[in-house]
Formats: sequence, structure tokens, C-alpha cells
Amino acid sequence: SSPVADINIPNNILLPEYLLEKINKWTDTDKVAVECIETKRKYTYPQIRKSSLSLAHFLQKSLKLKEKYGVAILLPNLPEYPIILLASMQAGLRISTINSNYTKDEVKRQLIDSKAKVLFANAERDKELRSICDDLRIQLIALKTHSNVTLSNGTINLFDCITSSSKNLEEIYPTSVTSDDVVILPFSSGTTGLPKGVQLTHYNLVANLMQTSAKEFDIVTEDTDETILAFLPFFHLYGFMLVLLHGLTRGAKLVTFPKFTSQHFIDGLRLYRPTVFHCTPPVVHLMTTNPHVKLPDDLQSLRTILSGAAPLSEADVERFKEVTKGKVDILQSYGMTEVSPLATIQSKVLKGGIKIGGGGFLVPNTQAKFISIANPNQVLGVKENGELFLRGPQVMKGYLDNPEATKATITDDGWLRTGDVGHYDEDGHIFITDRLKELIKVQGFPVAPAELEGLIRDHPSVEDVAVIGVKHEKLGEAPKAFVVKRKNVQVKPEDIQEFIKAHVVKYKHLAGGVTFVDDIPKTPSGKILRKELKKLI
Ligand code: AMP
Repeated sequence: SSPVADINIPNNILLPEYLLEKINKWTDTDKVAVECIETKRKYTYPQIRKSSLSLAHFLQKSLKLKEKYGVAILLPNLPEYPIILLASMQAGLRISTINSNYTKDEVKRQLIDSKAKVLFANAERDKELRSICDDLRIQLIALKTHSNVTLSNGTINLFDCITSSSKNLEEIYPTSVTSDDVVILPFSSGTTGLPKGVQLTHYNLVANLMQTSAKEFDIVTEDTDETILAFLPFFHLYGFMLVLLHGLTRGAKLVTFPKFTSQHFIDGLRLYRPTVFHCTPPVVHLMTTNPHVKLPDDLQSLRTILSGAAPLSEADVERFKEVTKGKVDILQSYGMTEVSPLATIQSKVLKGGIKIGGGGFLVPNTQAKFISIANPNQVLGVKENGELFLRGPQVMKGYLDNPEATKATITDDGWLRTGDVGHYDEDGHIFITDRLKELIKVQGFPVAPAELEGLIRDHPSVEDVAVIGVKHEKLGEAPKAFVVKRKNVQVKPEDIQEFIKAHVVKYKHLAGGVTFVDDIPKTPSGKILRKELKKLI
């Protein structure tokens, strides 16, 4: 169990109610909530509140969206993101967040799977998305930040919906939605197969925000005027919850990065003087190896950074501590989309302090057990490595329209199978040491081998294929394909790599290479033996 006492998590409040209660504390101030690092476009807390209400009215009254309908957001980290989110939640809608760099094919698949009725996207993608939206009868609402872009017929300009006069919340507040209804629907492949809609309820997310706020763990305080560099993408639950929503509940100023470049990052450090930020291991690596980052000068204002989404190497932590002369705390957290996403986090104030390489402690109201991989009936003890199972109020409701995958992931008594391997120690610290599941993490972004295998199989020269993750110096991990060619065809590894590039976002490209093999090792039932392929490397 968590070393921290359980907290009382209400099961009768909706996520927007929880957020508004916090945000309302700053309604009479001119505190900036979000500011774009590129354009400097910004919104104060009262502006976010008012604009989101006006958009919520538009969604419910003008577009006549019924409560629990789906909307999708295909946007980079822009200052309008929280307005759209809060509006959709206040209108009682279910939100699916999509990677803004996704190709047309990838976007279409998620729009279909999430049953979205409205899509929020950048005006630059209006023309490209028009035909998908027409086919699927989806209303496109575009964010038009440049006057030289003209919107197609039928596309609505977001700014026309958020500038109208003040509206009344009571008129639109959802009446049929309960805390057990799904509010956010991100996609994750879980322990196996294709990406699936992860149903996160109002209760799940309120719980995880409260767990993140426990005083032993919270890195964002309300007493200090926090400035956070918000470059982790909001479409991924780590950026969505820990950076965006948690930051807003603390009254922080979020500096949003529409894209991450090392120059933006350095500008962010120098111009905004952040106090905290959340990142992934490659950013820690960049900070200590990029000659343009002048440590510790550039980190004067910084108190803490939190790394998550993929394993942080001990070498990077040591180097970071050395160059910052120990003045900035570097913490690690562990989580996954299916647990809203936070499960463990390091803390200086709990027994044993920060152990390098550790994932920290379970957050309150959370339990873990490690199960023997050889014998699934055996629950392991201290320092014995096994598969991690988690239980707590942040565990998802299940996968959308996929009872089999849900049953394979959550046991009848509520334990979620993580597909990760690790152990706990005598002080209750959790260590993640390996991954059993197929998932590949490229710079912290999840990649499902099954998705790439499906695409590669469509190549006319391919008979069979398997994709695994291999270690990659810059990316952490990278997808690598083992391909069985059809007889008498001429095909080069680069042909397969080029083929994939046309279909998917950059981090899913086959940066680990393509190797031709005679056959793919499989079990008698046809399951790919990925461990055997790993041995070939
Ligand atoms: P996602 O659903 O994209 O957040 O991916 C969750 C997965 O990322 C976990 O199941 C782990 O395999 C991996 N992961 C997240 N945080 C860590 C961490 N601190 N150390 C090791 N693996 C991690």
C-alpha cells in the first residue's frame, strides 16, 4: 500500500466541477494561466473561465450536441487547449485527444473509434481534414491564428465561439452525467494489440488529481507563483493531467510549446524562468549534453523537474545532479494511461528519500502487488522481480467496446495488469526494471507493434512481419521490423522504411531498421515470440 494515508475521494462530483472550484480562486485576478512561447498569445484565469463557458453554450445550444457525445481535439499545445477542454466538459461531452502530428489515416481511425461528432483542429489542416469530416459527418471547428488562412465552407472558426458575452453555467450544465461516466478517452495499446480507447471517468480523473496533490508528492505548490514549461504534449495523459490540469488547479502559469525544439526549450528557460517542469528522459539527456544549455545559469529559478513516461537512466540523473550542483531536484514518476496516469512518484520526505533509479512510492489509495512470471499464482516479496499489478480509484473503467481486452487487463477484484516488471524494497519504494508487454516507448511516446505490423503487411513484397523495440541512443527505444519477403521479389530495407513513413507520425518510423528473415518465430497458436527476435539483435 501507499505509505501515505488514504484521502477521501468524492464520488459525486464531475471533473469540471472539481476544476472550476479550484480555478475560481483566481477569477478576480489577472493571473495568466497560459501563454504561447511562439506567438505570446495568452489567457488569464478569468478569460479561460468565460471563454470556456461561451464555447460550452455554443456546443450545446448551437450545435445541439447531446450530453455524453464524443468530441476530439487534434491540436498541439496551444493556449486555447484548456478552453476547449473545459467547454467540452461543462457541456457534458466525452473528449478524445489526438496527436496533432498524426497523419490523415491515423486521425481518421481515432475519429471513427472514438465516435466523435466534433473535431477541434488547427486551421492549417482544414483542407486536408475536410473530406474526412464530410465522410464521417463530423463538425470541424478550426483554430485560425493567421489571417491569411481561409476556412472551407462548413468549417467553424473557434474564435467566433469564444468571444461572445457572458453566459450562465446553470443553463447548460449536464444533468444526466454522473461521476461514473467517461470524460476522457485517450488511446493506448495496453499489454497487447492495437490502440484501444481507454475509458477514464470523472471519478478516475478527480481521484488522480487529488492523489497528485498529496503534500508528500506535489511538486507544484499554490503558495509560490509557479511557472511551468508545458512542452509535454497535452494529447498524452501525462501532459494532460500532470502538466495542464494539475497546473491549472494550482494557479500556475503554463508556457505552452506548440512544438518542442531545443531552441524553444532554451528560450523558455531564459525568458520565463520556470520554477518546475515535467519531462521525459530524452529531455534530461538533452539538458546535460546540449552545449547551448548553460547550466546552472539557465536553471536559476528552477526548483524541481519530474521525469516520467519511460525509464530514466541512472547516468542521466547523476550527470544532472553534478551539473546543477544538486540545486534542482530531479524526480521520477511511473504511470500509464490506464491509471489516469499516475501510480508512483518519488518523494524527498518519505522513508529512504530519493533512490536513484527508483520510481518512488505508490500515491495514496493505491495498492501494488508483484506476481511471479513463471507462476502467476505466486505473489512475490521484497526485492523479487515480477509483473506489477495495480489497484486504486484511478484504474480505468475499461477499454471502449472491447470487453475481451478489458477482461484480460483488469481482474474481477479490480487489479490492473500493467505488463511492466519490477519489485519493491524494504522502504516501500517501487522499481520498474523491465517490460513484458509489446509496447515500444520512443522518446516517451507509445508505439504499438501490432499497428506497424498491420501496415507493413500491406506492402506487396511482404509475406510476414514482426516489430519489436530496440535500444536507441537518441530516442531511448525505436521500432525495428523483421520481415519475411514474398518469393522472387526485389525489396530493400529502405523500401519498407519509406512505405511506413507515408502512413504514420515520425516517432513510429522504423528508426531501429528492417531485417529480412526466413520466418517469424511463433507459438503453435500463432503468437509472435518477440523474445526470440530480441535474441537476434
Ligand atoms: P503510456 O500509457 O503511454 O503512459 O505508457 C505507459 C508505459 O510507459 C508503462 O506501462 C511503462 O511501460 C512505461 N513507463 C512509464 N513511466 C515509466 C518509468 N518511470 N519507468 C519505466 N517505464 C515507464
